[in-house]
Amino acid sequence: MDPQTVIFVLALNLMSVGTLLALIGRRMDQAQGMRGYASGTIVFGLAYLLRLGTGHRHTSLMSVLPDTLMVLATLLFVVGLRQFVGLSALRPRAIAAATALYVAVWLVAWWGWQEPGRHVVLNGALAINYLLLAAMAWRGIRRVPGSMSLSLAVLSGVIGLLGVATALRVFLVLTGGIAPLFSGPTAAVYYGYSTFVTVVLGPNLLWMVFLRLNGRLAQLATHDPLTGLLNRHGLDEALRRHFAARPPAPLVLCQFDIDHFKRVNDLHGHATGDAVLRGVADTLTAQVRGSDFVARLGGEEFLVGCVGGAEPALALAERVRAAVARQAHGLAQGGVLHCTLSAGVSPPFSHAQHWEAALRLADEALYRAKSEGRDAVRVARAAPGWEAAAAPSDASAESSADVKPAPPPPPAAPRSAP
Ligand code: GH3
Ligand code: MG
Ligand code: MG
Repeated sequence: MDPQTVIFVLALNLMSVGTLLALIGRRMDQAQGMRGYASGTIVFGLAYLLRLGTGHRHTSLMSVLPDTLMVLATLLFVVGLRQFVGLSALRPRAIAAATALYVAVWLVAWWGWQEPGRHVVLNGALAINYLLLAAMAWRGIRRVPGSMSLSLAVLSGVIGLLGVATALRVFLVLTGGIAPLFSGPTAAVYYGYSTFVTVVLGPNLLWMVFLRLNGRLAQLATHDPLTGLLNRHGLDEALRRHFAARPPAPLVLCQFDIDHFKRVNDLHGHATGDAVLRGVADTLTAQVRGSDFVARLGGEEFLVGCVGGAEPALALAERVRAAVARQAHGLAQGGVLHCTLSAGVSPPFSHAQHWEAALRLADEALYRAKSEGRDAVRVARAAPGWEAAAAPSDASAESSADVKPAPPPPPAAPRSAP
Protein backbone atom coordinates (compact mmCIF):
# COMPACT_ATOMS: atom_id res chain seq x y z
CA MET A 1 0.00 0.00 0.00
CA ASP A 2 1.32 3.45 -0.82
CA PRO A 3 1.79 5.96 2.06
CA GLN A 4 -1.24 8.04 1.01
CA THR A 5 -3.56 5.04 1.26
CA VAL A 6 -2.08 4.08 4.65
CA ILE A 7 -2.60 7.63 5.96
CA PHE A 8 -6.16 7.65 4.58
CA VAL A 9 -6.99 4.34 6.30
CA LEU A 10 -5.43 5.54 9.56
CA ALA A 11 -7.44 8.76 9.37
CA LEU A 12 -10.67 6.78 8.91
CA ASN A 13 -9.69 4.49 11.77
CA LEU A 14 -9.00 7.46 14.08
CA MET A 15 -12.22 9.20 13.17
CA SER A 16 -14.39 6.12 13.66
CA VAL A 17 -12.73 5.32 17.02
CA GLY A 18 -13.09 9.01 18.00
CA THR A 19 -16.80 8.98 17.08
CA LEU A 20 -17.29 5.82 19.13
CA LEU A 21 -15.51 7.43 22.12
CA ALA A 22 -17.66 10.56 21.69
CA LEU A 23 -20.86 8.48 21.67
CA ILE A 24 -19.78 6.65 24.82
CA GLY A 25 -18.65 9.94 26.39
CA ARG A 26 -22.12 11.46 25.92
CA ARG A 27 -23.44 8.94 28.44
CA MET A 28 -20.65 9.40 30.94
CA ASP A 29 -19.57 12.19 33.24
CA GLN A 30 -16.59 14.36 32.34
CA ALA A 31 -14.30 12.75 34.88
CA GLN A 32 -13.60 9.87 32.52
CA GLY A 33 -11.77 12.19 30.12
CA MET A 34 -13.81 10.81 27.25
CA ARG A 35 -14.38 14.18 25.60
CA GLY A 36 -10.65 14.83 25.54
CA TYR A 37 -9.89 11.38 24.07
CA ALA A 38 -12.75 11.61 21.57
CA SER A 39 -11.96 15.11 20.32
CA GLY A 40 -8.21 14.34 20.29
CA THR A 41 -8.75 11.22 18.19
CA ILE A 42 -11.13 12.93 15.74
CA VAL A 43 -8.87 15.99 15.39
CA PHE A 44 -5.88 13.71 14.74
CA GLY A 45 -7.87 11.94 12.00
CA LEU A 46 -8.85 15.30 10.48
CA ALA A 47 -5.21 16.40 10.58
CA TYR A 48 -4.20 13.30 8.59
CA LEU A 49 -6.92 14.01 6.00
CA LEU A 50 -5.88 17.66 5.71
CA ARG A 51 -2.29 16.58 5.36
CA LEU A 52 -3.28 14.45 2.41
CA GLY A 53 -5.26 17.39 1.00
CA THR A 54 -2.42 19.89 1.35
CA GLY A 55 0.25 17.51 0.04
CA HIS A 56 1.77 14.75 2.11
CA ARG A 57 5.40 15.58 1.30
CA HIS A 58 5.26 19.19 0.30
CA THR A 59 5.20 22.16 2.54
CA SER A 60 3.19 25.27 1.85
CA LEU A 61 1.69 27.90 4.07
CA MET A 62 -1.43 25.71 4.17
CA SER A 63 0.58 23.01 5.98
CA VAL A 64 0.16 25.09 9.12
CA LEU A 65 -3.42 23.74 9.31
CA PRO A 66 -2.78 19.97 9.57
CA ASP A 67 0.32 20.57 11.71
CA THR A 68 -1.63 22.74 14.16
CA LEU A 69 -4.46 20.20 14.28
CA MET A 70 -1.96 17.44 15.15
CA VAL A 71 -0.49 19.45 18.01
CA LEU A 72 -3.99 20.43 19.18
CA ALA A 73 -5.02 16.74 19.11
CA THR A 74 -2.14 15.80 21.41
CA LEU A 75 -3.14 18.63 23.77
CA LEU A 76 -6.72 17.30 23.81
CA PHE A 77 -5.34 13.88 24.76
CA VAL A 78 -3.50 15.57 27.61
CA VAL A 79 -6.83 17.08 28.73
CA GLY A 80 -8.55 13.69 28.60
CA LEU A 81 -5.79 11.84 30.40
CA ARG A 82 -5.56 14.46 33.15
CA GLN A 83 -9.30 14.07 33.78
CA PHE A 84 -9.07 10.30 33.68
CA VAL A 85 -6.33 10.04 36.30
CA GLY A 86 -7.89 12.75 38.48
CA LEU A 87 -5.42 15.59 37.91
CA SER A 88 -6.66 19.19 37.79
CA ALA A 89 -8.28 20.09 34.46
CA LEU A 90 -6.51 22.18 31.80
CA ARG A 91 -8.38 25.40 31.03
CA PRO A 92 -9.64 25.84 27.42
CA ARG A 93 -7.90 29.22 27.46
CA ALA A 94 -4.54 27.54 28.19
CA ILE A 95 -5.06 25.14 25.27
CA ALA A 96 -6.02 28.03 22.96
CA ALA A 97 -2.93 29.99 24.08
CA ALA A 98 -0.60 27.01 23.53
CA THR A 99 -2.11 26.41 20.06
CA ALA A 100 -1.77 30.09 19.12
CA LEU A 101 1.85 30.06 20.31
CA TYR A 102 2.49 27.00 18.17
CA VAL A 103 1.02 28.73 15.08
CA ALA A 104 3.22 31.79 15.71
CA VAL A 105 6.40 29.70 16.10
CA TRP A 106 5.46 27.65 13.02
CA LEU A 107 5.02 30.80 10.89
CA VAL A 108 8.34 32.25 12.06
CA ALA A 109 10.13 28.94 11.35
CA TRP A 110 8.48 28.70 7.92
CA TRP A 111 9.38 32.29 7.10
CA GLY A 112 12.99 31.89 8.25
CA TRP A 113 13.82 28.29 7.35
CA GLN A 114 11.07 26.96 5.06
CA GLU A 115 10.56 23.16 5.05
CA PRO A 116 13.22 22.16 7.60
CA GLY A 117 11.86 24.83 9.97
CA ARG A 118 8.35 23.42 9.64
CA HIS A 119 9.48 19.86 10.41
CA VAL A 120 11.63 20.90 13.37
CA VAL A 121 8.75 22.84 14.91
CA LEU A 122 6.13 20.14 14.21
CA ASN A 123 8.21 17.20 15.42
CA GLY A 124 9.56 19.21 18.36
CA ALA A 125 6.06 20.14 19.57
CA LEU A 126 4.70 16.63 19.01
CA ALA A 127 7.68 15.06 20.82
CA ILE A 128 7.15 17.35 23.84
CA ASN A 129 3.43 16.53 24.00
CA TYR A 130 3.98 12.77 23.55
CA LEU A 131 6.55 12.72 26.32
CA LEU A 132 4.21 14.80 28.50
CA LEU A 133 1.41 12.29 27.87
CA ALA A 134 3.71 9.36 28.64
CA ALA A 135 4.86 10.97 31.91
CA MET A 136 1.25 11.73 32.91
CA ALA A 137 0.12 8.17 32.16
CA TRP A 138 3.03 6.88 34.25
CA ARG A 139 2.16 9.20 37.15
CA GLY A 140 -1.48 8.14 36.82
CA ILE A 141 -0.67 4.48 37.51
CA ARG A 142 -0.49 5.28 41.23
CA ARG A 143 -3.84 7.08 41.12
CA VAL A 144 -6.00 4.36 39.55
CA PRO A 145 -7.06 0.89 40.77
CA GLY A 146 -4.60 -1.92 40.08
CA SER A 147 -6.72 -3.40 37.27
CA MET A 148 -6.16 -0.26 35.20
CA SER A 149 -2.44 0.12 35.79
CA LEU A 150 -1.47 -2.23 32.94
CA SER A 151 -3.42 -0.12 30.41
CA LEU A 152 -1.79 3.07 31.66
CA ALA A 153 1.65 1.43 31.61
CA VAL A 154 1.07 0.33 27.99
CA LEU A 155 -0.11 3.84 27.09
CA SER A 156 2.90 5.39 28.79
CA GLY A 157 5.39 3.02 27.13
CA VAL A 158 3.88 3.21 23.63
CA ILE A 159 3.50 7.02 23.62
CA GLY A 160 6.86 7.54 25.37
CA LEU A 161 8.65 5.58 22.65
CA LEU A 162 6.80 7.60 20.00
CA GLY A 163 7.96 10.78 21.79
CA VAL A 164 11.59 9.64 21.70
CA ALA A 165 11.30 8.64 18.01
CA THR A 166 9.70 11.98 17.15
CA ALA A 167 12.45 13.88 19.01
CA LEU A 168 14.99 11.90 16.95
CA ARG A 169 13.36 13.25 13.79
CA VAL A 170 14.15 16.78 14.97
CA PHE A 171 17.76 15.66 15.32
CA LEU A 172 17.66 14.11 11.82
CA VAL A 173 16.42 17.34 10.23
CA LEU A 174 19.02 19.41 12.07
CA THR A 175 21.86 17.14 10.96
CA GLY A 176 20.78 15.85 7.54
CA GLY A 177 17.84 17.85 6.21
CA ILE A 178 14.30 16.57 5.64
CA ALA A 179 15.06 13.70 3.24
CA PRO A 180 15.47 11.03 6.00
CA LEU A 181 11.98 11.95 7.29
CA PHE A 182 10.37 10.50 4.18
CA SER A 183 12.68 7.83 2.82
CA GLY A 184 15.17 5.28 4.04
CA PRO A 185 15.01 2.80 6.94
CA THR A 186 14.47 5.40 9.71
CA ALA A 187 11.40 6.77 7.91
CA ALA A 188 10.06 3.23 7.36
CA VAL A 189 10.51 2.36 11.05
CA TYR A 190 8.95 5.66 12.19
CA TYR A 191 5.89 5.34 9.95
CA GLY A 192 5.51 1.68 10.83
CA TYR A 193 5.62 2.46 14.54
CA SER A 194 3.24 5.45 14.19
CA THR A 195 0.77 3.15 12.43
CA PHE A 196 1.08 0.65 15.27
CA VAL A 197 0.46 3.41 17.87
CA THR A 198 -2.56 4.72 15.97
CA VAL A 199 -4.06 1.24 15.78
CA VAL A 200 -3.48 0.22 19.43
CA LEU A 201 -4.35 3.59 20.99
CA GLY A 202 -8.13 3.44 20.41
CA PRO A 203 -8.68 -0.08 21.80
CA ASN A 204 -6.40 0.73 24.76
CA LEU A 205 -8.43 3.85 25.59
CA LEU A 206 -11.67 1.89 25.26
CA TRP A 207 -10.28 -0.83 27.53
CA MET A 208 -9.34 1.77 30.17
CA VAL A 209 -12.82 3.28 30.04
CA PHE A 210 -14.42 -0.17 30.15
CA LEU A 211 -12.42 -1.04 33.29
CA ARG A 212 -13.43 2.25 34.88
CA LEU A 213 -17.12 1.69 34.06
CA ASN A 214 -16.96 -1.88 35.25
CA GLY A 215 -15.42 -0.73 38.53
CA ARG A 216 -18.18 1.86 38.91
CA LEU A 217 -20.90 -0.72 38.28
CA ALA A 218 -19.35 -3.07 40.81
CA GLN A 219 -19.15 -0.18 43.30
CA LEU A 220 -22.80 0.72 42.70
CA ALA A 221 -23.92 -2.89 43.04
CA THR A 222 -22.07 -3.50 46.29
CA HIS A 223 -22.14 -0.13 48.10
CA ASP A 224 -24.81 2.02 49.68
CA PRO A 225 -24.91 5.36 47.81
CA LEU A 226 -25.69 7.46 50.92
CA THR A 227 -22.92 6.26 53.22
CA GLY A 228 -20.50 4.53 50.85
CA LEU A 229 -20.59 1.44 53.10
CA LEU A 230 -21.24 -2.06 51.78
CA ASN A 231 -24.88 -2.83 51.03
CA ARG A 232 -26.47 -6.27 51.46
CA HIS A 233 -24.98 -7.53 48.22
CA GLY A 234 -21.55 -6.14 49.15
CA LEU A 235 -21.87 -7.77 52.56
CA ASP A 236 -22.58 -11.14 50.92
CA GLU A 237 -19.49 -10.69 48.77
CA ALA A 238 -17.34 -9.73 51.75
CA LEU A 239 -18.57 -12.78 53.70
CA ARG A 240 -17.96 -15.03 50.71
CA ARG A 241 -14.42 -13.70 50.36
CA HIS A 242 -13.76 -14.05 54.08
CA PHE A 243 -14.93 -17.66 54.22
CA ALA A 244 -13.11 -18.57 51.01
CA ALA A 245 -9.83 -18.46 53.00
CA ARG A 246 -8.68 -21.86 54.28
CA PRO A 247 -9.05 -21.99 57.23
CA PRO A 248 -11.09 -18.80 57.70
CA ALA A 249 -10.43 -16.71 60.82
CA PRO A 250 -13.38 -16.62 63.25
CA LEU A 251 -15.83 -13.82 62.56
CA VAL A 252 -18.01 -11.85 64.98
CA LEU A 253 -20.98 -9.78 63.83
CA CYS A 254 -21.58 -6.47 65.60
CA GLN A 255 -24.96 -5.01 64.77
CA PHE A 256 -25.52 -1.31 65.46
CA ASP A 257 -28.74 0.70 65.43
CA ILE A 258 -28.97 4.45 66.01
CA ASP A 259 -31.20 5.24 68.97
CA HIS A 260 -34.43 7.17 68.38
CA PHE A 261 -33.37 8.02 64.89
CA LYS A 262 -36.93 8.68 63.81
CA ARG A 263 -36.92 11.69 66.13
CA VAL A 264 -33.87 13.11 64.31
CA ASN A 265 -35.88 13.09 61.10
CA ASP A 266 -39.01 14.39 62.80
CA LEU A 267 -37.26 17.22 64.66
CA HIS A 268 -34.56 18.26 62.19
CA GLY A 269 -35.66 16.98 58.79
CA HIS A 270 -34.67 14.15 56.52
CA ALA A 271 -31.54 15.92 55.20
CA THR A 272 -30.14 16.18 58.73
CA GLY A 273 -31.05 12.51 59.21
CA ASP A 274 -29.04 11.65 56.12
CA ALA A 275 -26.08 13.72 57.35
CA VAL A 276 -26.20 11.89 60.69
CA LEU A 277 -26.22 8.54 58.87
CA ARG A 278 -23.15 9.61 56.90
CA GLY A 279 -21.43 10.88 60.04
CA VAL A 280 -22.07 7.64 61.94
CA ALA A 281 -20.91 5.64 58.92
CA ASP A 282 -17.65 7.63 58.90
CA THR A 283 -17.13 6.98 62.59
CA LEU A 284 -17.74 3.27 62.08
CA THR A 285 -15.25 3.17 59.22
CA ALA A 286 -12.68 5.05 61.26
CA GLN A 287 -13.00 2.66 64.22
CA VAL A 288 -12.77 -0.70 62.45
CA ARG A 289 -9.52 -2.40 61.50
CA GLY A 290 -8.47 -3.02 57.90
CA SER A 291 -9.54 -6.66 57.97
CA ASP A 292 -13.06 -5.87 59.24
CA PHE A 293 -15.92 -4.88 56.95
CA VAL A 294 -18.76 -2.45 57.52
CA ALA A 295 -22.20 -2.62 55.90
CA ARG A 296 -25.40 -0.62 56.10
CA LEU A 297 -28.14 -3.17 56.57
CA GLY A 298 -30.79 -0.57 55.77
CA GLY A 299 -32.30 2.48 57.50
CA GLU A 300 -30.20 3.34 60.56
CA GLU A 301 -28.81 -0.17 61.05
CA PHE A 302 -25.20 -1.12 60.45
CA LEU A 303 -23.24 -4.33 60.65
CA VAL A 304 -19.53 -4.82 61.25
CA GLY A 305 -17.93 -8.14 60.38
CA CYS A 306 -15.16 -8.23 62.95
CA VAL A 307 -12.37 -10.68 62.14
CA GLY A 308 -10.92 -12.41 65.21
CA GLY A 309 -12.34 -13.55 68.51
CA ALA A 310 -15.05 -12.24 70.81
CA GLU A 311 -12.77 -9.90 72.75
CA PRO A 312 -11.61 -7.61 69.93
CA ALA A 313 -15.19 -7.52 68.61
CA LEU A 314 -16.53 -6.46 71.99
CA ALA A 315 -13.83 -3.81 72.33
CA LEU A 316 -14.70 -2.57 68.84
CA ALA A 317 -18.43 -2.36 69.59
CA GLU A 318 -17.74 -0.43 72.79
CA ARG A 319 -15.28 1.86 70.98
CA VAL A 320 -17.87 2.63 68.28
CA ARG A 321 -20.60 3.24 70.86
CA ALA A 322 -18.41 5.67 72.79
CA ALA A 323 -17.19 7.45 69.63
CA VAL A 324 -20.73 7.94 68.30
CA ALA A 325 -21.92 9.21 71.69
CA ARG A 326 -19.11 11.81 71.59
CA GLN A 327 -19.76 12.77 67.98
CA ALA A 328 -21.31 16.19 67.31
CA HIS A 329 -23.37 16.50 64.12
CA GLY A 330 -23.61 20.07 62.82
CA LEU A 331 -27.09 21.38 62.07
CA ALA A 332 -27.82 23.56 59.03
CA GLN A 333 -29.64 26.07 61.22
CA GLY A 334 -26.68 26.23 63.64
CA GLY A 335 -25.83 24.24 66.74
CA VAL A 336 -25.04 20.57 66.97
CA LEU A 337 -26.90 17.32 67.49
CA HIS A 338 -25.74 14.33 69.52
CA CYS A 339 -26.91 10.79 68.89
CA THR A 340 -26.28 7.45 70.51
CA LEU A 341 -26.44 3.94 69.20
CA SER A 342 -26.96 0.48 70.62
CA ALA A 343 -25.10 -2.66 69.65
CA GLY A 344 -25.53 -6.41 69.71
CA VAL A 345 -22.52 -8.70 69.37
CA SER A 346 -22.77 -12.27 68.07
CA PRO A 347 -20.64 -15.19 69.22
CA PRO A 348 -17.64 -16.00 67.00
CA PHE A 349 -18.29 -18.42 64.15
CA SER A 350 -16.09 -19.97 61.48
CA HIS A 351 -18.45 -21.29 58.82
CA ALA A 352 -20.28 -19.27 56.20
CA GLN A 353 -23.54 -21.17 56.71
CA HIS A 354 -23.78 -19.95 60.32
CA TRP A 355 -23.76 -16.28 59.56
CA GLU A 356 -27.53 -15.88 59.49
CA ALA A 357 -27.86 -17.59 62.87
CA ALA A 358 -25.07 -15.35 64.18
CA LEU A 359 -26.89 -12.31 62.82
CA ARG A 360 -30.06 -13.41 64.60
CA LEU A 361 -28.11 -13.67 67.87
CA ALA A 362 -26.57 -10.23 67.34
CA ASP A 363 -30.04 -8.86 66.60
CA GLU A 364 -31.42 -10.32 69.82
CA ALA A 365 -28.56 -8.85 71.81
CA LEU A 366 -29.24 -5.50 70.12
CA TYR A 367 -32.90 -5.77 71.02
CA ARG A 368 -31.91 -6.20 74.68
CA ALA A 369 -29.58 -3.22 74.48
CA LYS A 370 -32.57 -1.22 73.25
CA SER A 371 -35.03 -2.52 75.80
CA GLU A 372 -32.55 -2.01 78.66
CA GLY A 373 -32.03 1.66 78.00
CA ARG A 374 -30.08 2.11 74.71
CA ASP A 375 -26.59 3.64 74.25
CA ALA A 376 -25.27 0.22 75.24
CA VAL A 377 -23.54 -2.90 73.96
CA ARG A 378 -24.93 -6.37 74.69
CA VAL A 379 -23.29 -9.67 73.83
CA ALA A 380 -25.06 -12.88 72.85
CA ARG A 381 -23.39 -15.73 74.71
CA ALA A 382 -24.52 -18.80 72.90
CA ALA A 383 -24.55 -22.31 74.30
CA PRO A 384 -21.91 -24.70 72.89
CA GLY A 385 -23.03 -26.10 69.56
CA TRP A 386 -25.33 -23.15 68.82
CA GLU A 387 -24.22 -23.26 65.20
CA ALA A 388 -25.51 -26.78 64.68
CA ALA A 389 -28.75 -26.11 66.47
CA ALA A 390 -29.22 -22.68 64.93
CA ALA A 391 -32.82 -22.15 63.97
CA PRO A 392 -35.12 -19.22 64.63
CA SER A 393 -36.91 -21.10 67.41
CA ASP A 394 -33.62 -22.10 69.10
CA ALA A 395 -32.27 -18.61 69.18
CA SER A 396 -34.40 -17.53 72.15
CA ALA A 397 -32.59 -20.08 74.29
CA GLU A 398 -29.35 -18.13 74.06
CA SER A 399 -28.14 -16.44 77.18
CA SER A 400 -26.31 -13.19 77.07
CA ALA A 401 -23.92 -10.99 79.00
CA ASP A 402 -24.06 -7.29 79.50
CA VAL A 403 -21.03 -5.31 78.58
CA LYS A 404 -22.03 -1.99 79.94
CA PRO A 405 -24.55 -1.32 82.67
CA ALA A 406 -27.79 -0.19 81.07
CA PRO A 407 -28.51 3.49 81.68
CA PRO A 408 -31.57 4.10 83.80
CA PRO A 409 -34.85 4.88 82.05
CA PRO A 410 -36.14 7.07 80.47
CA PRO A 411 -34.28 6.08 77.29
CA ALA A 412 -31.71 8.48 75.84
CA ALA A 413 -33.14 10.59 73.03
CA PRO A 414 -31.20 12.58 70.45
CA ARG A 415 -30.41 15.89 72.09
CA SER A 416 -29.59 19.04 70.27
CA ALA A 417 -27.53 21.88 71.64
CA PRO A 418 -27.59 25.42 70.35
P1 GH3 B 1 -34.90 2.83 68.12
O1 GH3 B 1 -34.09 3.56 69.11
O2 GH3 B 1 -35.83 1.86 68.73
O3 GH3 B 1 -34.08 2.19 67.07
O4 GH3 B 1 -35.82 3.90 67.40
P2 GH3 B 1 -35.66 4.51 65.97
O5 GH3 B 1 -36.48 5.75 65.91
O6 GH3 B 1 -34.23 4.66 65.66
O7 GH3 B 1 -36.22 3.35 65.03
P3 GH3 B 1 -37.39 3.31 64.01
O8 GH3 B 1 -37.28 1.98 63.34
O9 GH3 B 1 -38.71 3.63 64.66
O10 GH3 B 1 -37.08 4.46 62.99
C1 GH3 B 1 -36.09 4.38 62.06
C2 GH3 B 1 -36.20 5.61 61.20
O11 GH3 B 1 -35.11 5.66 60.25
C3 GH3 B 1 -37.46 5.66 60.39
C4 GH3 B 1 -37.02 6.09 59.00
O12 GH3 B 1 -37.74 7.21 58.58
C5 GH3 B 1 -35.58 6.46 59.19
N1 GH3 B 1 -34.79 6.19 58.01
C6 GH3 B 1 -34.61 5.00 57.39
N2 GH3 B 1 -33.77 5.15 56.33
C7 GH3 B 1 -33.44 6.46 56.30
C8 GH3 B 1 -32.60 7.23 55.41
O13 GH3 B 1 -31.99 6.74 54.46
N3 GH3 B 1 -32.48 8.56 55.67
C9 GH3 B 1 -33.12 9.16 56.72
N4 GH3 B 1 -32.96 10.45 56.92
N5 GH3 B 1 -33.93 8.44 57.55
C10 GH3 B 1 -34.08 7.12 57.34
MG1 MG C 1 -32.98 2.99 65.61
MG1 MG D 1 -33.75 0.21 63.29
